[in-house]
Amino acid sequence: MSGERVLVLLPTSTYRTRDFLNAAESLGVEVVVGSEETSTLETLQPARLLTLDFLDPMGSAARAREFHQRHPLAAVVPVDEETAVAAAAIAGALGLPHNSPESAASARLKHLMREALAAGGVAHPSFTSARADDDPRLLARGLSYPLVLKPVFLSGSRGVVRVNDRESFVERFEWLSRFLSTPEMRARGGEESQLILIEEYVDGSEVALEGLLTEGRLRPLALFDKPDPLEGPFFEETLYVTPSRLPEATQSEIARVSAEAARAMGLRHGPVHAELRLSRRHDDETPVVIEVAGRSIGGLCSRTLRFGLSISLEELILRHALGRDVEDLVREAGASGVMMIPIPKGGTLEETRGLEQARAVPGIEEITITAHPGKTLIPLPEGSSYLGFIVARAGDPESVERALREAHARLEFDVR
Ligand code: ADP
Ligand code: CA
Repeated sequence: MSGERVLVLLPTSTYRTRDFLNAAESLGVEVVVGSEETSTLETLQPARLLTLDFLDPMGSAARAREFHQRHPLAAVVPVDEETAVAAAAIAGALGLPHNSPESAASARLKHLMREALAAGGVAHPSFTSARADDDPRLLARGLSYPLVLKPVFLSGSRGVVRVNDRESFVERFEWLSRFLSTPEMRARGGEESQLILIEEYVDGSEVALEGLLTEGRLRPLALFDKPDPLEGPFFEETLYVTPSRLPEATQSEIARVSAEAARAMGLRHGPVHAELRLSRRHDDETPVVIEVAGRSIGGLCSRTLRFGLSISLEELILRHALGRDVEDLVREAGASGVMMIPIPKGGTLEETRGLEQARAVPGIEEITITAHPGKTLIPLPEGSSYLGFIVARAGDPESVERALREAHARLEFDVR
């Protein structure tokens, strides 16, 4: 044990607890889990658990400071967008390197992100925002189509819909207003739950850049292609494959625009997950920023990444948060990818078949079904989870993509 202690902010919905705990163990650092749920364990192991209200960053910072006096913390690591805002406030209160609370908020709330990108002159879809109680018939007249409607505070494509004309605009807007007015959404999003972002639909293929900021400098760790078209009306993520098959020049341009976006948003420290589209409107395929989040890749997708001698992304993030040098850790040679298994239809998951056959596909490294039998499956745009994750490794991206598709085809989900 190095004796160091790291506070990892884990929302209850995360898939990544185990990966972070494993990373801490192999590094020999002690983890304190910051979580929203009051746990009876907190009284039994007061040095290992800290209950925080992530929606109250200042309150979280005060609690963490008090904790820090008894059990000194060497770093704070957020796991998703919601916890990133609390992490910024906590790191600030403890005097650790951090993103400003404003930049963390702009990475969490999409209207603030769009404003920051616009002010910084970074390529982004043109946008306007509306309130859930606005009259969509009035709004619909002044707009050009196709466009995208989205909530500002959610993630995982929840509530994100494409509309192609006035009629579907009115229909989808009314649906989104109702969705955002449910007690669950109001509680999670507060004031911001009532905002609806209306954006120009950017036509083109999409990529995701995983990166790490150190004192404001963005170092790309991996660039993923998303080989399945994401054309709407809903945007369910499926395949992520790295390294990208795009020309080198395009890849550098993506890295450059992502760094510009982080700068415009004021993000300076820690992991970054950026999503961009290569706009087909210009033949030069300009990268347009869809989103930049101040966190690492979600779900179990980080399992595609290994650095140096088989170091996980979580371990790299912990090392970086502890102020260690991670510049030498580069992604392993070869290709890898993940399929976030989409929900085929709404209902109750009865059974998953074909796992053995799917695992036998060459290149398949791991298949984790995160949805257990009996689970109610809600597809997008309302839903918020995947059936599971398939991870593959091979010599080149084509073979990875083929393996992921083949394995997925062998799986059968019985949904009633
Ligand atoms: P979330 O935080 O829920 O992931 P995003 O803004 O990233 O929300 O939107 C989810 C997906 O919807 C994106 O990955 C992209 O495929 C699609 N999308 C969102 N906005 C646009 C847009 N303006 N033009 C084209 N596609 C978009
Ligand atoms: Ca996104």
